[in-house]
Amino acid sequence: MAATSDWRPEDATAKRIANHKEQALTEANPITGGCLCGGVRFTYSGELGGSLGLVTLCHCGQCRKVTGFAVAVVPARMAGFAITQGRDLVREYESSPGKFRAFCGVCGGPIYSRRASLPEALRLRLGVLDNPPADLKIQAHIFTEGAPAWANTDDAPRYPGEEPGRP
Ligand SMILES: [Zn+2]
Ligand SMILES: [Zn+2]
Repeated sequence: MAATSDWRPEDATAKRIANHKEQALTEANPITGGCLCGGVRFTYSGELGGSLGLVTLCHCGQCRKVTGFAVAVVPARMAGFAITQGRDLVREYESSPGKFRAFCGVCGGPIYSRRASLPEALRLRLGVLDNPPADLKIQAHIFTEGAPAWANTDDAPRYPGEEPGRP
């Protein structure tokens, strides 16, 4: 890269995070989402990330057990969240004292997590959103210490479909 300015990667990162803090990611509101089997459906209106906190990919051991890899999470407000279908299918598992992970009781798909101590907040799972805002991106990897070597996928090649050679 030509040294034509004093641009540094860390400046860009700080600026990007600052921008997210200033402007809520609301362009695609209302957002809809649902579980794998389609039994649970929800809508969300309001701020995502931004002043509520960073969009993260969590590599902790609990998230690994839930999905087989990691969990992508965006902070949201409980007030903007509404289950529109399948409320009776939603199960909550208390994975830590006072922390509940909600999922569909039919397909097992994760939906959100919440803390009893923060009733106004929830943390939506990115993968269940139908129409995520285009600027909604992972801003931080968290709990990376202790993650197995296979969880560091950044150098692996990417394919639009199945990998070559699958039987
Ligand atoms: Zn389901
Ligand atoms: Zn986690």
